[in-house]
Amino acid sequence: MIHRITIFGATGSIGDSALKVIRRNRDKFEIVGISARSNFAKLAGIAREFGVKKVAIADRRKFAAEQGEKFFPAGTVFFLGVEGNCELAADGQADAILMAISGTEGILPTMVAIGARKTILLASKEVLVAAGEFAMAAAKQFGVQILPIDSEHNAIFQCLAGSNKFIKRVILTASGGPFRDHSREQLLVVTVEDALRHPNWVMGPKITVDSATMMNKGFEMIEAKWLFGLAPEQISTVVHPESIAHSFVEFCDGSLLGQLAPRSMEHPIAHCLFYPSREEGGSRGLDLCEIGKLTFAEPNRELFPCLGLGETCLREGGNLAAALLGANEVAVEAFLARKIAYVDIGRIICEVLSTYPGERECTLRGALETIAHARIHAQALL
Ligand code: NDP
Ligand code: MG
Repeated sequence: MIHRITIFGATGSIGDSALKVIRRNRDKFEIVGISARSNFAKLAGIAREFGVKKVAIADRRKFAAEQGEKFFPAGTVFFLGVEGNCELAADGQADAILMAISGTEGILPTMVAIGARKTILLASKEVLVAAGEFAMAAAKQFGVQILPIDSEHNAIFQCLAGSNKFIKRVILTASGGPFRDHSREQLLVVTVEDALRHPNWVMGPKITVDSATMMNKGFEMIEAKWLFGLAPEQISTVVHPESIAHSFVEFCDGSLLGQLAPRSMEHPIAHCLFYPSREEGGSRGLDLCEIGKLTFAEPNRELFPCLGLGETCLREGGNLAAALLGANEVAVEAFLARKIAYVDIGRIICEVLSTYPGERECTLRGALETIAHARIHAQALL
């Protein structure tokens, strides 16, 4: 079990859920470092409550302009700027890091933490989507365990119980998001507020929009490939509106194992924090009779083209998924800023991928360059 942990993205939705689990188990965990982009007030509150001494803040300019240090207890050690996250990731005190930065800036600190031989509790999608090959190779080289927090991968991890022998395929479940039952005509006029109203989960705005386009499921299929060493044809998805079964593993003899749990990110987070033990009395569990029935359906790839784009990147490999990530980031930012319509998100990504110049060098640097180029291309299309 982990004892001393650093939380990256501590002020976000995953950060909130992680702090709730740790608050229930104050005697078992020590938070030695926390990070955020710019929400100093909230970060300082966490520092005070949990007695955290080391703090990384990515927005150096805002920190200087607003004299950010005045919010924090005396004696706090600050790591500033984007490189501050990497310095904190290398800090010797933590046994593990929980990576929950939203965006590509979580990639490098994760790589640094792997190099520093820390256990990685991974929420940020961007790490495995763009740099899965390199993160998994480094984890193997340094003998580091990557524990998946994302509920689908956490479910698969639990079903596999340490061995991916005899696995035939994995089936990731998808809620289908707020537009699951929409028609093509309805999708033309949905608003940012509609997209942010997820039926089952409360999450940060970027991943909530990714859920509404089903890009999130495309990302998760790519993550599954790297995390569990699977071939693209071993990874599939079904729509499961209840979000109670978090994913399935089918074995070669036809047995299908699934993991069911209440809809709360506290579950997979607690699973990773306590692994290989389990939190006692963490939740009241599921009342199956109250739930009554669970339903499953084929996703509609015509209405949700982002899912198909994710599947194309899953099959193609190379740096195409990095291009997908960069183009999607820009498109979602523009949608959230009300500069483009919901249906433009898929169109912009499709355009960037269709003119993708092909393989840059297949290294971490190449992947990061691909993200940057895809971002520039998508910006130009706006
Ligand atoms: P939020 O938007 O709620 O939070 C993002 C967090 O990242 C905030 O703490 C933010 O700080 C911080 N942050 C952003 N940029 C930086 C940076 N450069 N350096 C340090 N901190 C930074 O996102 P979520 O918590 O919803 O999601 C986090 C990650 O986890 C995403 O990759 C998401 O896809 C993944 N995930 C989330 C799930 C969920 O249920 N929420 C489920 C599965 C995966 P600040 O507050 O200062 O802006
Ligand atoms: Mg998920």
